[in-house]
Amino acid sequence: MALSASPTVERVRDHLCAKGLFGDVAELCEMRGDCVFVVTCPECGHAFTLDEDDYDELLHWSRTSGQSCGIAQA
Ligand SMILES: [Zn+2]
Repeated sequence: MALSASPTVERVRDHLCAKGLFGDVAELCEMRGDCVFVVTCPECGHAFTLDEDDYDELLHWSRTSGQSCGIAQA
């Protein structure tokens, strides 16, 4: 895994961590079986759409960063 986060992950992380928030996560799957993760800011309701790789990266970061923000494991 690269050291630098993807732009999508950085955007979500910066948004949530600026206020010490955990986003609400919903997994949406289309009939074809393609799934995306929608992370919603609990404060302003802004929704970010992440693909599986971005979601995994954000989850990993949230677990290992030692900061109280990001996403909790579903
Ligand atoms: Zn927000």
